[in-house]
Amino acid sequence: MKIYKVGDEKTAECAVCQSFQTVVFQLRDVPFNDGTGVVKNVVAGVCKTCDSVAVIPFQSVPAIKRQLESQRRAVESRVPAHMIDILNLASARLGAAPDFVPLLVKYYIHQLAVNPSAAVQLLPLLTSELATGLANKRLSLKGREIHNDISELKSLSNIANTTELLKGVVLAINNDILVNPDTHRIALLKSFVATVA
Ligand SMILES: [Zn+2]
Repeated sequence: MKIYKVGDEKTAECAVCQSFQTVVFQLRDVPFNDGTGVVKNVVAGVCKTCDSVAVIPFQSVPAIKRQLESQRRAVESRVPAHMIDILNLASARLGAAPDFVPLLVKYYIHQLAVNPSAAVQLLPLLTSELATGLANKRLSLKGREIHNDISELKSLSNIANTTELLKGVVLAINNDILVNPDTHRIALLKSFVATVA
């Protein structure tokens, strides 16, 4: 297998020009054929004549597969609007912007999925008044481990429904960060914010 470096050139057929052209390998965001998304920052052969992606080298396939997998396997759920507000407030409390919210939720799901005694505390949270409300805001979680973590947590917590489970997680975050601040956990999360920000 030939490995191409950024800047390498070769001759290849360009579908846009409908002829053989010189392509130069560059890091490009490549849209899916069906227009449903984009694979970011992969080495691709770009036509020097029309600037479109003419060739995806074999070396980029694993990176593309990995991105496709994580993008397509998002967990989608709808929760009451005040739950998103809680998550935004918790992020702010940690010194993070609202775009930290999915990471915060995923962090919690992962921690709870490996901690049975904490996981069983989710179900009682669902009886609180804050657990009610019209589910009108989308919560989307992407990542390679999220499906495994959620199914693990469902069995530990005895909450079979994904939306109910996410509500419980949001209310646990509310308790730990906003209602009864857990200083140890907040310190851990702040250092996590610092590493991903
Ligand atoms: Zn071209």
